[in-house]
Amino acid sequence: MLVQDAKNLVIERGGVLNCLGPKLGARFDYDADLRPLFPLIKGNLANAQLYDRPERVQFLLDGILCTIYAQEVVAAPFLERDQVLRFIHRLTATLNDLYTRRHSLGRNHRKTTMLPVYDIYRLLPGTNCTACGQPSCLAFAAALSRGRSYPDRCPGFRQPIAHHAVYPVYDQNGNLVSTLEMELAADADELNRQAQPTREHPAVALLTAREEEVLRLLAKGASNPEIAVALAISPHTVKTHVGHLFDKLGVNDRTQAAVWAHTHHYL
Ligand code: SF4
Repeated sequence: MLVQDAKNLVIERGGVLNCLGPKLGARFDYDADLRPLFPLIKGNLANAQLYDRPERVQFLLDGILCTIYAQEVVAAPFLERDQVLRFIHRLTATLNDLYTRRHSLGRNHRKTTMLPVYDIYRLLPGTNCTACGQPSCLAFAAALSRGRSYPDRCPGFRQPIAHHAVYPVYDQNGNLVSTLEMELAADADELNRQAQPTREHPAVALLTAREEEVLRLLAKGASNPEIAVALAISPHTVKTHVGHLFDKLGVNDRTQAAVWAHTHHYL
């Protein structure tokens, strides 16, 4: 399965909805279904992450954040069209190299899963003391959900019901409703790395200026019609921006997007 040249290339400045900005984004297709390469990409390219729903792999290649969904590729940011073309050439060569050496390369099938933020939040003391390095308990729950922190950073985190970090989740009546399993901190270096300024998250490079505006308003609790009025755009356009935000940030709903914005200092 060697990958042929890309087709259906679309290059957009500042996103698909005329959000003016200096950066270009690109999307294009390959003829082949690239999903068999995902474990190879995860196992051999720096910063690669596998995700479900939709199934995709995301990684940095030459400073470009690249997401591959089966046959479709989305990548950004670029400064000019020629840079896009060079990147496609580089990506195609990289994928073909992985495929050619597939029998000698390692694979990593582990997917990045997001634990439910609200269930994690219910394990926390709710005091917003910031001892965990996050501005609030909700932000800490979001960081745990995305695997960017560890339970033992919060001194008041509920004790696990088993030695290997299985945490009980109770409802308001004290009934055990579910359990969560999490990895404890590996070492201090890893904790320090996780605590670096969060605006360096690679997804930040994908956000257009308009999407950042929508994210800030959404994080303040504004509805789509309110955002539409504030930005003088249609509610339909807002809805499209919100959908793109969810996809780029890897969140499932407005609450998670708001927590993400809070965590990454977008307010
Ligand atoms: S240390 Fe625990 S209680 Fe304090 S803000 Fe962080 S999660 Fe909340």
